Amino acid sequence: MLIDGHGRTVDYLRVSVTERCNFRCQYCMPEKPFSWVPRENLLSFEELFLFMKVAIDEGVNKIRITGGEPLLREGLDTFIKMIHDYKPDIDLALTTNAFLLPQTAQKLKDAGLKRLNISLDSLKPEVAQQIAQKDVLAQVLKGIDKALEVGLGVKINMVPLKGINDNEILDIMDYCKARNIKVRFIEYMENAHASKSIEGMHGREILEKVKERHTINALGREGASPSFNYVLDDGYEFGLIDPHKHDFCENCNRIRLTAEGNLIPCLYFDEAMSIAKAVKEGDIEAASQVLAKVLKDKPKENRWSEDNPNEEDISTRAFYETGG
Ligand code: SAM
Ligand code: SF4
Repeated sequence: MLIDGHGRTVDYLRVSVTERCNFRCQYCMPEKPFSWVPRENLLSFEELFLFMKVAIDEGVNKIRITGGEPLLREGLDTFIKMIHDYKPDIDLALTTNAFLLPQTAQKLKDAGLKRLNISLDSLKPEVAQQIAQKDVLAQVLKGIDKALEVGLGVKINMVPLKGINDNEILDIMDYCKARNIKVRFIEYMENAHASKSIEGMHGREILEKVKERHTINALGREGASPSFNYVLDDGYEFGLIDPHKHDFCENCNRIRLTAEGNLIPCLYFDEAMSIAKAVKEGDIEAASQVLAKVLKDKPKENRWSEDNPNEEDISTRAFYETGG
């Protein structure tokens, strides 16, 4: 079992397979970064998997593939199959913007993927385009339909932004309800890479919008999930991911691995340790030692504060590198 320096059990590894993306979401990567990580610095799937096996053997039972846009990386289905074949009962999920799902969903399902979290910020083509800076909506909706058709579990992530898509919170909820899928509203996490012109919504403001049409009851956090769940009077459940809330990090069970092999203990902070040398040399003992050190030093909590966001609230870590 993996326990961090604050006594929390860590059983969830998120693996970012690329920082590259085919969208330019205003809250994540509004502009192409000055430079991408050179391809030769990326770990191969075999190298990533070598570390993942160490983590699985030591207690990780949930893996999420993310990015950047993970579907851009060639051979992803083979990678998923490697993980699935090693431990078929592992909770294996992927986060995607869905743009490439129409042509990949079946292959991912066949490889052993169980669930998808899909980002959907608007149902209006022009608003989706404003956020992603590309005309994406029709293809994203096709991707969601395809994922459901092939039998993948689907959850929707929406990041509400003031004056942009905040008037679509109820519409996105209706869209999800009609398909019997869960929506999770994510508070915008201030970070230095995002567009300066956007403003996120606090969890309580998101809930106010839902209350305009529904009565809601709090269900609470589902185990170590980042999502605080609510239920509507008609029984529909939705989630709120509220990293600004003071108790958000209490049960954090996650660590993150980037495509170049940086093991990151917390989404907010820049601190990381590389497992690249260890896996390139096939040194399992060294990889395990890096894992132990990262767990020992995992911060107690992030610094997105609940009230009065200020300079301190702005993380310098890029979401497209860490995978959210
Ligand atoms: N490209 C994929 C996608 O968009 O789903 C996976 C990577 S993306 C970095 C993972 C998640 O992080 C998405 O749900 C996205 O909405 C979320 N995200 C990115 N930047 C964020 C920010 N500044 N605040 C809150 N959520 C953010
Ligand atoms: Fe790409 Fe996902 Fe970031 Fe949007 S949120 S720019 S789709 S990595």
